Amino acid sequence: MSAMIVTVRQGGDPDRVRRALVERGLWAKRLEGAGRVQFVVAAHSAQVPADGLGDLPDVELVTTSASAHPLVDAMPEVLEVGPVRLGPGQVPVVFAGPCAVESEEQVRRLAASLAAMGVRFLRGGAFKPRTSPYEFQGKGQEALRWLKRAATENGMGLVTECMGVDERDDVAEHADLVQIGSRNMHNYALLKSVAKAGRPVFLKRGMAATVEEWLAAGEYCLLHGAPSVVFCERGIRSFDPSTRNLVDLGAVALLAHVHRVPVVVDPSHGTGRRDLVMPLARAAVAAGAHGVMVETHDDPGSALSDGPQAMLPDQLAALVRALGVSP
Ligand code: PEP
Ligand code: MN
Repeated sequence: MSAMIVTVRQGGDPDRVRRALVERGLWAKRLEGAGRVQFVVAAHSAQVPADGLGDLPDVELVTTSASAHPLVDAMPEVLEVGPVRLGPGQVPVVFAGPCAVESEEQVRRLAASLAAMGVRFLRGGAFKPRTSPYEFQGKGQEALRWLKRAATENGMGLVTECMGVDERDDVAEHADLVQIGSRNMHNYALLKSVAKAGRPVFLKRGMAATVEEWLAAGEYCLLHGAPSVVFCERGIRSFDPSTRNLVDLGAVALLAHVHRVPVVVDPSHGTGRRDLVMPLARAAVAAGAHGVMVETHDDPGSALSDGPQAMLPDQLAALVRALGVSP
C-alpha cells in the first residue's frame, strides 16, 4: 500500500478533516509542526483514491508515495497456468500431492486418484527444504521426471519447488509453476534466477514476511522475467504453538480483494493438522483465495515428511467436493 499524507489548509479545522478520513475507513495519525497539521494515513486503512481526498473541505494537499510493486499491481486478475485458469470467478484450483516425492510408483498412483476427483494440479517436492539436515532431503532430479510423467499421464499441471540456482533449469523444464518456498522468499538471487527461466512462479510467503515484503518479492520475479506470480499464504510464525503456523486470512482477503492478485492458501503447512485442513481450506476460499494447496499421502504413517498433516485421498475427495471442484 502506498503511503499517504493529508495536509490541512492553514486556518482549516483539523477535526473536520480527521472525521472525514475516519468516515472513509482511514486510520489517521495527527502530526503537528511549523504551524501545519497533517494526517499520516496508516497502512491498514481502507483503499481510497487520493484525488477524491484532495477535494475534501479544509484539505490543502494529499501526497502519496509510488507503489513499490507496479508490475504486481498491473498483473491480469485471471491467470492461465498449465491446464487451469486461476483468479476471481474461476473454479478454485486445488494443488495436491505429497509433501515429498518418495517413489515413481507413489506419485503415479496418487496422481491418477487425484485427477479422478477433479484435481488439476499435482504438487510434490523433489528438492526439500528441511529444517534439519538429518531429515529426508528429497529424491532430487529423478523425482522431477517422475512428477512430470505422472502429471502428463493424467492431464495435470505440475508445481514443484526450486531451492537453488543449480537445479533451476531442471525444475523449470519440468514444472508449469516453479515454487519458491517460504524459507527462500527473501532469497533475491534465487528469485532473479528463477524468474529468468521464464516460468510462472508460485511464491510462498516468508514465515515472517510482511505483506509488502511478499509483494515486493513478487515484483522481483516479474521484473526479471517471470510471466506471472501466484502468491501462496502458508502461515506465519506466531507466539502460539497450538497450530504449526498461523494462517493469515486477513492477508489473503487483502491480496484477493484490494490488491486483486492471484492468491492461494496452503492450510497443510498453515495448521500442521489434517483435521483442520478442510475447515481452513473452506475459510480460505470464503476469504477470496483462488485455490488451495493440500498435502496428500495414501499412507501418511510411512510418509518421509509431513505425514501428520497429510490428508488421505478420501479426505481430499471430500474437500474437493466441498469447494465445488468437480471432474
Ligand atoms: C512445501 O510446500 O513443500 C513446503 C516446503 O512449504 P513451505 O515452503 O511453505 O514450508
Ligand atoms: Mn510439507
